[in-house]
Parts: sequence; C-alpha cells; structure tokens
Amino acid sequence: MSAALASSVALITGASSGIGRATALRLASEGASVAVVARRGDRLGTLVAEIEAAGGVALAVVADITVRAEAEAAVQRVVDHFGRLDVLVNNAGVMLLGPVVGADVDEWERMLAVNVNGLLYVTRAALPHLLEAGESGPRRVADVVNISSIAGRVAWNGYGVYNLTKFGVNGFTESLRQEVTQRHVRVGVLEPGGVATELASHNRAEIQEAMTTPFYEQVEVLQPDDIADGIAFMVTRPRHASIGELWIMPTDQA
Ligand code: NDP
Repeated sequence: MSAALASSVALITGASSGIGRATALRLASEGASVAVVARRGDRLGTLVAEIEAAGGVALAVVADITVRAEAEAAVQRVVDHFGRLDVLVNNAGVMLLGPVVGADVDEWERMLAVNVNGLLYVTRAALPHLLEAGESGPRRVADVVNISSIAGRVAWNGYGVYNLTKFGVNGFTESLRQEVTQRHVRVGVLEPGGVATELASHNRAEIQEAMTTPFYEQVEVLQPDDIADGIAFMVTRPRHASIGELWIMPTDQA
C-alpha cells in the first residue's frame, strides 16, 4: 500500500455512491483513514467493510449535511474518533435540471441546500482542524477539494440553478484558497464532465428523457474512478505545490 497519505485523515461527503464512494476507496488505498459521510447508512456500512477488508481504516458517519447541526456534528465525530483531519472532499451534490419557467422551487431549494449550504457548513466546521494539520500535521499541509462541475465553468439552457450552485462553488473555492493557502491549507476545485453515477437519476422522468438519458447514451462518459484519480493527484502533490483547478472531461464530450 502506498503511503502518500499515511497518518492522514480524510473526510468525504456524499460517499454512499458514485464519485464519493470511489474517492473513499482510492484515498484509503493511499494510506488515509477515511471518514465517509452521507444519509444512507447501509451503503456507508458496506463501504467501510470493503475498505477494512482491503486493509484500510474507515468510519461511517450518517449525516444530512443540509442540516447545519448535523454537518458540524459529523466533522466533530471524525475529529473525536481519529484525533485530526487533513483532507476534506466536499463531494455531496444533487443536479435537478429543467427550465426556469414554471420550475419546481423545491428542487431549487434542494440543490442550494446540498451543493451550497452543506458544503459551507462542512467547510467552516472543518477549517480549524485543517489549519492545525497545515501547521503541525504529518504532511504539514492540508487539503480541501470541492467537487464542482463543468457546469461551474459553462452555462447551459435548462441547467440554471445547478449552474448557479457550481459557479458559486468555483468562486468560493478561489476566495478560500487565497485566504488560507499561506497557512498551508490547499484549496482546489475539480470540475468533472459526465460521469456514470446516480446523479441524473434523481431528475423527474420527463427531464431524464429529454436531457440526461440522451447525453449518457451518446457519450462514453467517465467512471467514478477517473475523478477519484484526479482527487488523489490533487491531495498527494508535494507540500509546495497546490492544484487550484482541475477539469476532467470525457474525451467524447465537446
Ligand atoms: P451520486 O448521486 O452518485 O452521489 C451523490 C452523493 O451525495 C450521494 O452519496 C448522496 O448520499 C450524497 N448526498 C446527497 N444529498 C445529501 C445530503 N443532504 N447530505 C449528505 N449527503 C448527501 O452523484 P455523483 O457521484 O455524480 O455526484 C458527486 C458530485 O459530483 C456532485 O457534487 C455532483 O454535482 C458532481 N458532478 C457529477 C457529475 C456526473 O456526471 N455524475 C458531473 C459533474 C459534477 P445520500 O443520498 O446517501 O445522502
């Protein structure tokens, strides 16, 4: 087992499926103890068992990160359990597409709650621990990787509020990077193109039929491991090198 993240603790939100799950497995294989956070505890339990069976160390923390108290308690639970926090991957997210005209406001609120508020709550709670890791942790550097999207760089018709959340994540990431980078907390954003996960399946049937299914059928999309690779690259750079932005696209996606 590579020791790039030996003695380090990583917290990954949205680890019960897709990119978060692949990232937990990957960072554990790099030697990190991983805390996996999401609402579906059964999925997290299976993942922890899988990591432990491969010789890794993992902790399941069931939390709805849109509830500020739960987000804060999740970070505290990880620090209480492992005694530290070195890497935060803000990955949990939802993508509910459709026109603004006649939109379902509940869907907007769900996206804002997870993609923006949840990310902010977890980040704020984690920062004191990450700053400590940057100063005196095993690597003397800490990492925040925010999972945005190619929809955080480019806007498309029908993606309005998802675009809003991901453009917002990009702006917040760069601002936070400038705030804490000289204290050796690296903050970067990773923007995937299409990845084969559960993400699109949360859309209403008519939206899936019109917007997501044709795309996923026409393009050879990425796999969650492709994004986990990028995250592992970002958090295993030498202490003096910080990756602020990385976008990873399916070769087929123009
Ligand atoms: P999935 O739907 O497979 O995973 C989303 C994860 O977020 C799940 O583990 C889910 O867990 C978690 N989550 C959702 N709501 C909450 C909540 N309230 N509290 C805690 N966890 C929550 O999708 P992906 O893996 O694709 O998505 C991961 C990230 O990647 C998202 O930010 C997405 O926007 C981004 N992305 C994905 C792309 C793609 O094509 N798939 C492209 C570009 C970006 P649970 O339901 O158990 O709580």
